Amino acid sequence: MQVKTYKDEFESYLKDASNLVGYADRVFIPETTDEIIEIISKANADRIPVTIAGARTGTVGGAVPFGGYVISLERLNKLLELDRKNKKATVQSGLILKDFQRIVESEGLFYPPDPTEWSCQIGGNIATNASGARSFKYGATRPYVQRLKIVLADGSILDIERGKIFSQNGIIELETSKGNVIRAKLPTYRQPMVRKNTSGYFTADKVDAVDIFIGSEGTLGLVVEAELKLIDKPEAFFSGIVFFKEETDLLACVNEARNLSFASRSGEIDSIDATLLEYFDRQALRFIAKKFPEVPGKACSALFFEQETTEKSEDKLLQMWLELFEKHNALLEDSWFTTNEQDRDRMRHFRHALPVAVNETIARYNQRKVGTDMAVPDENFACLLRFYKLKLEESRLDYVIFGHIGDNHLHVNLLPKTEEEAVKARHVYGRFVAQAIMLGGTISAEHGIGKHKRKYLYMQMGERYINEMVAFKKTFDPNAILGRGNLFDTKFLD
Ligand SMILES: Cc1cc2nc3c(=O)[nH]c(=O)nc-3n(C[C@H](O)[C@H](O)[C@H](O)COP(=O)(O)OP(=O)(O)OC[C@H]3O[C@@H](n4cnc5c(N)ncnc54)[C@H](O)[C@@H]3O)c2cc1C
Repeated sequence: MQVKTYKDEFESYLKDASNLVGYADRVFIPETTDEIIEIISKANADRIPVTIAGARTGTVGGAVPFGGYVISLERLNKLLELDRKNKKATVQSGLILKDFQRIVESEGLFYPPDPTEWSCQIGGNIATNASGARSFKYGATRPYVQRLKIVLADGSILDIERGKIFSQNGIIELETSKGNVIRAKLPTYRQPMVRKNTSGYFTADKVDAVDIFIGSEGTLGLVVEAELKLIDKPEAFFSGIVFFKEETDLLACVNEARNLSFASRSGEIDSIDATLLEYFDRQALRFIAKKFPEVPGKACSALFFEQETTEKSEDKLLQMWLELFEKHNALLEDSWFTTNEQDRDRMRHFRHALPVAVNETIARYNQRKVGTDMAVPDENFACLLRFYKLKLEESRLDYVIFGHIGDNHLHVNLLPKTEEEAVKARHVYGRFVAQAIMLGGTISAEHGIGKHKRKYLYMQMGERYINEMVAFKKTFDPNAILGRGNLFDTKFLD
């Protein structure tokens, strides 16, 4: 195990993609579960805070420490088993997502969760219930997690399998490797009626024990191992980036593509079934045109779509998509379509380049990103989008809007250049939060709460539910050493 004790050796472990910078006493890079148990047990006995670090691609400061120890999972990065027949894999939590996806795809299998940043670790994905563009068809990380091995704050282990232990009347009981029974009372709030949500601990009428830890942002335990469900690798994909001159045409097109996809999945019709529907507004296109000059200047917005195909279905589906775009007045001649993997990768890079460019710009201005991650119920999406645009125009701040329009989940990124603009941007952001909550939405659909958004989680939940979450956390971590400052302010813990 490597232990870093000098700050200049571990500076990179004090930040993540949020630009938040913390501090720590030392950084541990263990190679075995036993080493993790040793560090955590000692930290617990001495009441030393422990921050768990994956690849630190998180955008909300979840892996940023404020004192104590950092445990980095980077060396627990092995694929332990790939069961081709039963379509499942067992991995150590530090395995990098893109490495895992490459291996399973070479075996004709597919692991669908795809946060736009592929250098993240599987453990980080589980801790944030990561989702991405393709979650429109395949869902977030949660449904793919079948078993988890977790080290708790006292050094005991939980090994839990999906479908085995459920909550009853709001209580869940789990037996640890030390033979102790943890009896935890679940928070009593209901999940908002949105397609994606990572705001606070998971709750439902009957909660599977595995689900408790998914999206818990390193506050309940340290995931060391996971068994993941895989699916067959689709034969091929047809995808494209389609430009529109009028925003209303794009929105109508998305609506129809979404409805057709849902009908197709429920077996009502055999037709368009998008795996992803991603949006770029005019500012986003201008922003990205610096890196991709082939973006047509007359475009006001764009839609990135993808569809699974087979040799048999390809021609028919291609025709259906083209007819749909034609019907909604897309700039077909300027748009990009492909069925080959290389061009598809370029389109995915186009999508990925946007948040990266945003992060780079913000870092250049020496500011922190002010980006929304809210989602609202289907029927309220148009209202939220109108509100975003109105307030953004009023603010006169630079901004880009892009993201998962299929899931009613767009990222508005405000780009303040000065401290004064940053204050204004945070004010506008606060208005968006209030509006999303009022519309029955969630303040975080995929990036989580971390340290950046806990104030807004408080707005969404209110003090009663924050206290219920704290009590829940403390059943697993009585000394509150894990992931301090994530989800709620430390004042609620002490
Ligand atoms: C350009 C860019 C685009 C992005 N796009 C998306 C997107 O589309 N969708 C999306 O969901 N996210 C997106 N993200 C955010 C990020 O990639 C995800 O949140 C990812 O899941 C974080 O994984 P990580 O390994 O980097 O975790 P980290 O950032 O290191 O940690 C994230 C949280 O998980 C906890 N954690 C990490 N490992 C473990 C473990 N083994 N056990 C317990 N807790 C752990 C940490 O303590 C922290 O609270 C994007 C980020 C960037 C930079």
